[in-house]
Amino acid sequence: MSDDKEVMIGKYTRREFREAMAAGKFQAAIVATAATEQHLEHLAMEHDLASVTTIAREVAKRLYPQVIVFVPMALGISEHHMVHKGSMTAKPGSWLSVLFDAVEGMVRHGVKNVLILNGHGGNEAPMKGILRQWQLYFNSTAPEVNVQFHSYWNLSREVAEQHCTSRVPGHAQEYETSMALAMFPENVRRDAMRDQEDQEPLKATVEKGRIFVEAAISKTVEYLQEMIAGKHREVLPHVFSKDLDMKK
Ligand SMILES: [Zn+2]
Repeated sequence: MSDDKEVMIGKYTRREFREAMAAGKFQAAIVATAATEQHLEHLAMEHDLASVTTIAREVAKRLYPQVIVFVPMALGISEHHMVHKGSMTAKPGSWLSVLFDAVEGMVRHGVKNVLILNGHGGNEAPMKGILRQWQLYFNSTAPEVNVQFHSYWNLSREVAEQHCTSRVPGHAQEYETSMALAMFPENVRRDAMRDQEDQEPLKATVEKGRIFVEAAISKTVEYLQEMIAGKHREVLPHVFSKDLDMKK
């Protein structure tokens, strides 16, 4: 490995990973989920994947050697974006099946805490609909295992909302565009930002982006430290049919 603080599972050989697990490393895994979809006229379509991968990698580096990162989902649940050419989408059922297999794979290799760290809003509702079932499954088959799901903007919402003048996260707006300016400015097309109809992204700045990125990283670090210490073992509550009333 070129980096002695390597945290991406794909960079390990099987021997290196086996020996790391035997040495008690990797108390937790981040399974990162994202999307590849339109982000208005000015922001690259890889934004959700690039941002969640960058955040996950930095979180794991700060907690090295406690956390390993797997990124299974470049494809997200994005049917609502398919009207824009270039967006890609997965059906919720197939997406959840592959994600479950990714989580279970980490568990089968001995990882006790799995945080599904999400970078795309469209993945939240299907995930929240099924997380309780997965938690109950692991509770009965591998009680030491803890699986949780969070979008990075929710873990860091308090700080983000102090500095963002519009919605958090929004879509390709002030929050995401600021983060892109801080992490990968080459993904932001300044001319297109000015000449498109939606002008909200013009509120983005690199300074705000650095605050949003740092908050996402440090709050995720905090949450994972607590998971490793045995906290956040809560199972999502049951959703009753009246909460799902489609007529509302
Ligand atoms: Zn996005």
